Amino acid sequence: MSAEQSYQKENEFSIGSEEELVNAFRRRDQKKLILPERLKYPFRVRSYMTWKEPSGAYTYLVFKLPNWDVPRGVAFKRTASTGEPTGGLCSWCHAYGSSEEIGLLSVAMSANVSSSYLVCHDLSCIEKIEETAMLAGKDPDKNIAELYYRMEKLFENISNYKPEN
Ligand SMILES: [Zn+2]
Repeated sequence: MSAEQSYQKENEFSIGSEEELVNAFRRRDQKKLILPERLKYPFRVRSYMTWKEPSGAYTYLVFKLPNWDVPRGVAFKRTASTGEPTGGLCSWCHAYGSSEEIGLLSVAMSANVSSSYLVCHDLSCIEKIEETAMLAGKDPDKNIAELYYRMEKLFENISNYKPEN
């Protein structure tokens, strides 16, 4: 039994109320938060929750590792592409895609600092990992654990900028 396997299996969490969902986000992100419509509380989340606001400018991620007390959320801003559209390799799931599918999403770490991540625009990384593994007849666990690890690092980086909101 590898660490990765238990990592994946346990990564399910629930959101009890709208308040809990909103509070998963930092204050700076709450200002940009548009919740998905028709959410019924409480609900269970498998792996992580992600959605886009209607204009597509923001993509949200809500994630919780088993050892975290509460889920944490972040708002990514889609970075307008400059220059020629190139697409690329998602740094989280290694899927290859066009500039429509993969691009820079930025996270405001503080008022002046933001970090960019070259990832799938819709953060469908786990589905891509599972699909790729299935087609290859491989176990997706290692790549899923790696994906969670990258998300964990992202939230750790954000934490380093606290308590400034
Ligand atoms: Zn991806």
